[in-house]
Amino acid sequence: MAASSPAAVRCEKCARELGAISYELPSERGRLPHCLMCAVRFPPLLKRSLVICLLVGTLLTAINQGNFLVSGDFQLAMAWKIPLTYAVPFGVATTGGLLNARSAIETDA
Ligand SMILES: [Zn+2]
Repeated sequence: MAASSPAAVRCEKCARELGAISYELPSERGRLPHCLMCAVRFPPLLKRSLVICLLVGTLLTAINQGNFLVSGDFQLAMAWKIPLTYAVPFGVATTGGLLNARSAIETDA
């Protein structure tokens, strides 16, 4: 006889069984559940985060380091400050996108 347990929800991309949290990402078949690893590597999400990273990172670099860059006074600390200035908006945009796509699977507990 067939078991009466409900079918497990699986990631649409890698078929990994999903836990209580999944990430619903748009596709040609509608919004489908994905695991975190597939959601993080979702190309439209990465593209949007990269655009935000370039725009916001450039603006923040101009605000914080612009006077040094214009005067040509390059300091060693800029070697980590500038990449970090770009990394922060990338992380914020990616995290925001993931939180917006997050979906809790309802259980009948
Ligand atoms: Zn997956």
